[in-house]
Amino acid sequence: MAWFTRDKPAVKRADGEKRVRTEGLWLKCERCGQIVWRKALEDNFQVCPKCGHHGRLDARARLGLLFDEGRFEEFDQYLASTDPLEFVDARSYRARLAAAQEATHLRDAIISAGGNLNGRRVHVCAMELKFVGGSMGTVVGEVITRAIERSIQKKVPLIIVSASGGARMQEGAISLMQMAKISAALMRLDEARVPYLSVLTDPTTGGVTASFAMLGDLNIAEPGAQIGFAGPRVIEQTIRQKLPAGFQTSEFLLQHGFLDAVVKRADLKNYLSKALDFFLRSAEQGAVEDTGPSAITRAS
Ligand SMILES: [Zn+2]
Repeated sequence: MAWFTRDKPAVKRADGEKRVRTEGLWLKCERCGQIVWRKALEDNFQVCPKCGHHGRLDARARLGLLFDEGRFEEFDQYLASTDPLEFVDARSYRARLAAAQEATHLRDAIISAGGNLNGRRVHVCAMELKFVGGSMGTVVGEVITRAIERSIQKKVPLIIVSASGGARMQEGAISLMQMAKISAALMRLDEARVPYLSVLTDPTTGGVTASFAMLGDLNIAEPGAQIGFAGPRVIEQTIRQKLPAGFQTSEFLLQHGFLDAVVKRADLKNYLSKALDFFLRSAEQGAVEDTGPSAITRAS
């Protein structure tokens, strides 16, 4: 579901005079209903300038937002799924992958990158929701695991920006194994005392929420993001109870202790930078065991 809908295409009036074509130039905000110039929205990283609604941001724009001057190098961009189960549903998985690759110019649902954030070297993995729903299969699992291992080796902090429908069902149990693989690698990152910050964006669900997205030294979400494991309808049917209003939003989860902070997109870069200052300073001062990054997270 897109947050922003396209304006209606230009129509020919009865008197034969054509209206100016405005298709795609103007977009309607799904929350406040106001018409926003597409360029203004892009310049504002998809946040509605009228009401502050956070629209979805693709992986490349996300990296542009976080890295200084929008400059970064990419890693592991040539890994591609081999369709291990030769899966076919309404379409073959192979065809689905090919279509997604063509539409996004990515091999899979993630970009792994390195660069500077406010002058400090960081690794950032950003998930791409437009690629088969940002689902996590073998490639996403492997790319993230390699990013973690690179962070351990180079002692460079890691940030993962999630946007995902969960595990990729076309890769069955093999996609579920990625949860354990990534979680185990994050444990090694923690032991190496390298900070990991998780940023949850709209939507973050399923096996991604159930593994690395909730394992950060800090788990930070954007305003109004849908974050959960199963969808609300499935939960209601299972527990036979009406769910409270705002269930599975960032704000609700913050209130109930599942998140450390909800941070606006405009403030995100500086927030991450400050958090890294904090973690790295306490690591330098040898604040071992009791006040280290993971201990602070557990205590908060
Ligand atoms: Zn709006």
